[in-house]
Amino acid sequence: MNAHAYPDLHLYIDGAWRKTTDDTPVLNPADETVLGALPIASRSDLDDALAAASEGFKTWRRTPPRVRAQIMLKAAGLMRERIEEIAAAITMEQGKPLAQSRLEVIRGCEFFEWDAGEAQRTYGRVIPSEPGIRYMVIHEPVGMVAAFSPWNFPMSQPSRKIAGALAAGCSIIIKAAEETPAGAYHIARALHDAGLPRGVFNLVFGVPADISRYLIPQKQTGLIAFTGSTAIGKHLTEIAARHMKPVLMELGGHAPVIVCDDVDPVAAANLSAVRKSRNAGQVCTSPTRFYVHEPLHAAFASAFAERARAVTIGNGFDPNTQMGPVANHRRVDALRALVEDAREKGAKVLVGGEKTTNRGYFFPLTVLADVPPDARVMSEEPFGPLAVINSVASIDDAIEKANALPFGLAAYAFTHSAAHAERLATGIEAGNVSINTLEASVAETPFGGVKESGYGREGGAEGLTHYTHVKTISHRMAM
Ligand code: NAD
Repeated sequence: MNAHAYPDLHLYIDGAWRKTTDDTPVLNPADETVLGALPIASRSDLDDALAAASEGFKTWRRTPPRVRAQIMLKAAGLMRERIEEIAAAITMEQGKPLAQSRLEVIRGCEFFEWDAGEAQRTYGRVIPSEPGIRYMVIHEPVGMVAAFSPWNFPMSQPSRKIAGALAAGCSIIIKAAEETPAGAYHIARALHDAGLPRGVFNLVFGVPADISRYLIPQKQTGLIAFTGSTAIGKHLTEIAARHMKPVLMELGGHAPVIVCDDVDPVAAANLSAVRKSRNAGQVCTSPTRFYVHEPLHAAFASAFAERARAVTIGNGFDPNTQMGPVANHRRVDALRALVEDAREKGAKVLVGGEKTTNRGYFFPLTVLADVPPDARVMSEEPFGPLAVINSVASIDDAIEKANALPFGLAAYAFTHSAAHAERLATGIEAGNVSINTLEASVAETPFGGVKESGYGREGGAEGLTHYTHVKTISHRMAM
């Protein structure tokens, strides 16, 4: 089923691969077997990475944007050539079906390709002025980026941050996810083979809190870029504030989906159930709180449950598998607890709710209906294959409920009415609102949250904003 071996993992510091004395096992979530040993960076490894990134920044900021773009495009090309090997590693360590891992590799490459183009479009401007003086605005790279990427998308999550940093002319130290390190490892390999100058990109793994505490205060650090939970995002932002460091925070979500009474409930439910199963629901934009206009509620809920029941769960290498395991035991425990709490408070469990096997972190696509507002799942991000379907009386009721949480990342709606779409798109508090599609972002569009879902945008024409700062140059032609 899988022709590829799991990679022999290394740190990547100053253009060289490095093993360490300390390591930790990487587990396969489908069967809990050990895939490999992950090197853990020591304090002296971090010192070396910092020194390398400082030197790397000096080189890279002076490298012409066209050359930066060429290296990034070459790396993306190599990753496209290596798609089968990279996708297999992702499925091994993270569990998703192989077809989804391939799509993730392509998505990661698209982030590199888009940002390579943007590297050449960080235009400044000349401001009209009186004769004899010229005011210019230019964008300069912020310095070294300290980046932290999570385990749900081992390759595309680090790609966003690495591509943004490299395109802007920054060097980067990234601490990728310890539980799913191979995606970032393959990016390092591609950048190395594409000829990226040493020191510009450095990959470390270790104890997350130790690494962030070390990197954030450093004078070389120009930006902290983090994707993960709101709690950790706030914690890192607090440390950053103490050292006056800017942050780019892509945090949790709890995406509402509003189903209006002018759509086919079965078609909307089928689309939604399949989307909810993507990456076993471990997506910050995963559709979670379905608010269905009352007349359609019963038909929508029963079609959703039926489609959910039909989703085949299994090892990601089995071609029949539509949903793999969740990535770690923490998710299984969290999902069980949320379902139990909702059940006790009166919710109906339409399908799923129990761990399915003794071996591997399998949890079925689970659908809850008529969930009371005080159930924890109505306010805590499930980050797994768990959907709630409640009815609403009107669009205003739906918007109020959608906006009730402190999250504001992605939101969705189904309607054929342009007037409803306009009301929903402007009324919902979220960084991304999608109508009649459950896709929240592509490389060409800016992505990020409002409220406690974070700060800043990745991708699109806005994507390099955080990786650069603005400098105003006032030039009088004669003294
Ligand atoms: P967690 O909050 O412990 O960790 C989330 C991520 O942050 C992990 O990658 C972890 O390595 C990193 N991290 C933790 N402490 C850190 C620190 N002090 N410094 C730097 N990095 C640190 O939770 P978890 O159990 O790994 O994940 C569960 C929650 O995380 C989910 O409920 C979800 O809200 C969130 N999450 C969000 C995304 C996303 O795409 N926004 C991705 C993964 C996880």
